[in-house]
Amino acid sequence: MGERYTVTTRCTFCGQCQVECPVAAMGMSARGAVIDQGRCVGCGNCYRNCASQAIDALAADAAEGSVP
Ligand code: SF4
Ligand code: SF4
Repeated sequence: MGERYTVTTRCTFCGQCQVECPVAAMGMSARGAVIDQGRCVGCGNCYRNCASQAIDALAADAAEGSVP
């Protein structure tokens, strides 16, 4: 499992992350892009390709809620 990502309010609805996502985990809502965390494989394509830097990376252990 890779890192977890979250979309922030900087999203401009451009849709590029939906194009980049290999597993179709990225959807769009009235508030911006939304990641289906159950489907996301943590590849980071959306994070790297967002022109607005609207996606934040979360520490994997923080997202999992436990520290090994
Ligand atoms: S690429 Fe970035 S700005 Fe564009 S829809 Fe996705 S999160 Fe929003
Ligand atoms: S990290 Fe990868 S799998 Fe997850 S939403 Fe972004 S592009 Fe899709």
